[in-house]
Amino acid sequence: MTENLTENHHIPESPSLYAKHKKVYPQAITGAFRTLKWKVTAAIMAFYFITPWIRWDRGEGEPDQAILASMSLRRLYFFNIEIWPQEIYYLTGILVLAAVGLFLATAMAGRVWCGFTCWQTVWTDLFVWVERKIEGDRNKRIRFDQGSWNLDKIWRKSLKQFIWIVFSLLTGAGWIFFFNDAPSTAMNMLTGQGTYEEYGFTFLFSATTYVLAGFAREQVCIYMCPWPRFQGAMFDEHSLIVTYEAWRGEPRGKSKAQNIGDCVDCNLCVNVCPTGVDIREGDQFQCIGCALCVDACNSIMTKLGRPLNLITYDSVSNQMARERGDEPKKRLIRKRTIAYSILLSAVVVLMAYGLLNRSELEINVQRDRSPLFVQLSDGDIRNGYTFKILNMINVPQTYTLAISGLEGAKLSVIGLGKDPVDTVTLDVEGDTVATYRVFVRAPIETMRSQFEDMEFILTNSETGEVVRYDSRFAGPVR
Ligand code: SF4
Ligand code: SF4
Repeated sequence: MTENLTENHHIPESPSLYAKHKKVYPQAITGAFRTLKWKVTAAIMAFYFITPWIRWDRGEGEPDQAILASMSLRRLYFFNIEIWPQEIYYLTGILVLAAVGLFLATAMAGRVWCGFTCWQTVWTDLFVWVERKIEGDRNKRIRFDQGSWNLDKIWRKSLKQFIWIVFSLLTGAGWIFFFNDAPSTAMNMLTGQGTYEEYGFTFLFSATTYVLAGFAREQVCIYMCPWPRFQGAMFDEHSLIVTYEAWRGEPRGKSKAQNIGDCVDCNLCVNVCPTGVDIREGDQFQCIGCALCVDACNSIMTKLGRPLNLITYDSVSNQMARERGDEPKKRLIRKRTIAYSILLSAVVVLMAYGLLNRSELEINVQRDRSPLFVQLSDGDIRNGYTFKILNMINVPQTYTLAISGLEGAKLSVIGLGKDPVDTVTLDVEGDTVATYRVFVRAPIETMRSQFEDMEFILTNSETGEVVRYDSRFAGPVR
């Protein structure tokens, strides 16, 4: 049946959804944006490779790495600030800041994050720089790749791969140092005494760097990264994006005829593009906003003595204004950017307030569920609690524990005497969580219902800081 159908009817072939990869050979270019990109790259490299080695004295027995996300200690250290797992909301705050900051930057100047600071762009840029130094600039590299294998090709390709691998290994290890003490971890790994996890993660991150920056390159931005798919929601017609000013560039051409625009169709803007985009065809999601085509075109305009910025940061509304013959305006301050700025400021203020008023003492109480209560021989009711004290100061502290809200109630703590008392003194080592078993007993006459509200009050004997914890006291059904 199927055979008959195909024999008698012409079934149109559906177009292939597969596009063959065309290797991009970005040409070197100099200019204002290229210089800015190098400066940003230098800052990112310095942050990535130097910060884990900065030391910060926190006292005896404490890690002395200024920035450290210690998995074993379950702490995040940032100079003087020490974030405990219970304070994970600070990390959430940082992620919210990063997201809103990205929205604001995109609303103002398009994909500046992608073009200048995204680590895929930065590392790819460095890998391409190495390639260019060893194999030559664009045309030479194209010829080199198309040429047959000889000794020169073998050693240049090998040298490039060797440098890429070394740089990938440094990158992989650099990531590990943010999570472990950098000097001792480096020494252990170099002397073969590192842990399986350290070697394993270094290999994983090194391999990822090598593949993504060395081979996948612009394909990560075009096919793998989700950001280009929804960044359009952050733009509006006033956002500045890298744009070809078609109104003065077209009709393009190399001739000197009078009605020809400023674009001489030299293709340099396409040749320098790291994603192989022709920006003259309009805004495209493959464009990462690196502005290298701006430098390229400006170099041509300078040579020709024509006005600069045929390709420039411009907005859709300005282009439309020019078409109407109106004066273009830059509108950085508008509803969208104001809203993002307010949100950004609010998160910054909230986080700063939280950090400045941060308590270095926290308690966590869990009431026993089984049994809910015990009736003692004298008729009193007793409840058991697991009482945790987080001393976030790195010196031992002494606290006084009391209860309120439950008439006639007394306390006792396992290991600190059996007699019920009004207050009890608890010692906690510096920078630790201490767990105590606490019993509260109260006369049965106190119970007006099956559950009575009560409050634990913990006071730091030295600083006077008080932390309260609402809890309940259970008794028989009434
Ligand atoms: S079109 Fe221009 S701004 Fe966009 S990625 Fe290419 S060089 Fe960068
Ligand atoms: S670099 Fe400028 S002049 Fe050359 S093709 Fe691109 S837009 Fe035209």
